[in-house]
Amino acid sequence: GPAGTGAPVRTTCAYCGVGCGVLATPEADGGTAIAGDPDHPANFGRLCSKGSALGATLGAEGRLLDPLIAGQRSSWVDATALVAARFADTIARHGPDSVAFYVSGQLLTEDYYVANKLMKGFIGSANIDTNSRLCMASSVAGHKRAFGSDTVPGCYEDLEEADLVVLVGSNLAWCHPVLHQRLMAARDKRGTRIVTIDPRRTVTADQSDLHLALRPGSDTSLFNGLLHHLADRGHLAAGAIDAVEGLADALALAASDAAAGLAERCGLSTGEIAAFFAEWAGTERVVTVYSQGVNQARNGTDKVNAILNCHLATGRIGRVGMGPFSVTGQPNAMGGREVGGLANMLACHLDLENAAHRAAVQDYWSCGPLPQSAGLKAVDLFDACASGQVRALWIMGTNPAVSLPRADHVRDAIAACDFTVVSDVTADTDTAELADVLLPAAGWGEKDGTVTNSERRISRQRAFCPAPGQARPDWQIICDVARAMGFGAGFDFGGPHAIFAEYAGMTALSRRFGRDLDLTGLAGLDRAGYDALRPVQWPVAPGGAGTDRMFGDGDYFTPSGRPRAVAVAAGPELEPQGGALLLNTGRIRDQWHTMTRSGQAEVLTRHIAEPFLEIHPEDAARRGIGPADIVTVSGQGSTATLRALVTSRVRPGTLFAPMHWSGQFAADARVDALVAPDRDPVSGQPALKSAPVHLSKC
Ligand code: SF4
Repeated sequence: GPAGTGAPVRTTCAYCGVGCGVLATPEADGGTAIAGDPDHPANFGRLCSKGSALGATLGAEGRLLDPLIAGQRSSWVDATALVAARFADTIARHGPDSVAFYVSGQLLTEDYYVANKLMKGFIGSANIDTNSRLCMASSVAGHKRAFGSDTVPGCYEDLEEADLVVLVGSNLAWCHPVLHQRLMAARDKRGTRIVTIDPRRTVTADQSDLHLALRPGSDTSLFNGLLHHLADRGHLAAGAIDAVEGLADALALAASDAAAGLAERCGLSTGEIAAFFAEWAGTERVVTVYSQGVNQARNGTDKVNAILNCHLATGRIGRVGMGPFSVTGQPNAMGGREVGGLANMLACHLDLENAAHRAAVQDYWSCGPLPQSAGLKAVDLFDACASGQVRALWIMGTNPAVSLPRADHVRDAIAACDFTVVSDVTADTDTAELADVLLPAAGWGEKDGTVTNSERRISRQRAFCPAPGQARPDWQIICDVARAMGFGAGFDFGGPHAIFAEYAGMTALSRRFGRDLDLTGLAGLDRAGYDALRPVQWPVAPGGAGTDRMFGDGDYFTPSGRPRAVAVAAGPELEPQGGALLLNTGRIRDQWHTMTRSGQAEVLTRHIAEPFLEIHPEDAARRGIGPADIVTVSGQGSTATLRALVTSRVRPGTLFAPMHWSGQFAADARVDALVAPDRDPVSGQPALKSAPVHLSKC
């Protein structure tokens, strides 16, 4: 519970997927001193600008303090009863698929676990999806195709032990700053070579040895070309054709792809491509880090597999300083997918479509039959609200009316829903304004639980101050509603430690079915053990101490035990029509998501204070746009008004705008409203990096 004693409390940062350890020390004046935890293996004491400013985001100002029903202050008893009754009534009348939860990578694993248990196990629908769909769903799908499981093979230390680090679609310096600092420190010591592959010249690209400003979406072609080059020059691992399923087919496709004007398709010079291929082929210790530029694409899953193919074919995986590495955006995107937060997965990396898996989960939870197929994924979920298929919706800790593609449509869809519940720390978000019932959630520093970072490391978040007003932790809000719906015994938890114990015990099923997610070594933790839990990388088998690298033994989670190469066709790139430009949306260094937390820290506005649009000088000149002009960007029937930043850091024909500013912080800068709802056909992840838009001077 809250310390309040002045002793430092060990916790984990609220922001990105690096998952830095934080020491939070309550101060006599009510403030909190924040420092990096020198003993945490993700950051060894470092923090970035956002993490350092966490203390300035605490406090009761702007917080939602009480449950609100139709805007009126209420009690937990009444609000819980109303939410339970409306969900139960909707299910009784229209069936379990008429309700949905949209949750968040900001939730703790324990919150996520009970939300998923309620929806999939007790309501009997798979309509629970998460904003992590926007973040790494393509990586999940790519991992499952290649490894048979959603397993991140390596660890952060691999970036320090590599001789070549390739950063694809990742502005690591701004989006995962402490991991970038670790890489830079390692470069000082061992002379690591760094290649950045990104259409945009980012700060990360500035600090690289080679920057390939490739045409948006051409990553599959580039990595197919690399695979062909590796085979052609004799760099495949000995016996790879037999050891890797499907490699012969992938090589054949890559060969035909590489023959057809690779440089032109990628928008690069032959010299640039040759330099990259030579670096990769000539270096044993290669780590390929990839992020949203890969995942948020119409062909995101294929891009992921094009990268994984190269590592599998050369055996550069599961060994020190080698491997593909998906870095996740959110503090608990990983934990969410571990407990079934995605509409297409069961808890513990079990499969919804597998009858034996479903039966085992049903038995473990003592619940009714589980849904047999995937529920609605993020974009589809809000379309289903608009069409009337989903009639009762609960949004937890996220702001889809700003962050989803076609955000104005999403806002209208939420408004159209018969009954919408939003649980959050504030009432001042574009989404919270649409709620019929608003539930005050405890925030960072006020609640206990676990998160998993990008290297599979589970760390504790710990409370160090009381929640204001009537705010409660999400797990408790969810369990109270579940009990009010009549699902008592399954949700009678005495605290997050009890939820974690149930979850860790459940991973015995993963172990039984030969899956990757094994926490049975933590299953016996009592409250004291949970409170004392030190950061640990799963799998954690009984008596085990955690696992830094996977697949070093060549054993994978596919039926054959062999990894799979996937033959991925590059496909035609999107050619904008009628003078349209391609809008790339992304993060800036000092803000987070839709700014509901980071916007509270004045210090974080000093880096970049207002929304902007990067435009190439040729595109600006063609439209009579000068530096710092105000411009209008339009798409999907919506517009945004932004300040022009004329720069050759973006490619001609492309634009970049940060996605942070919502109606709460700027008049007209909701850039995700302009983005078409195109998505990857395998993962359902939206293409937030290349949306056709039109541009004019105001
Ligand atoms: Fe927090 Fe990420 Fe910064 Fe670490 S790098 S302090 S986890 S925002």
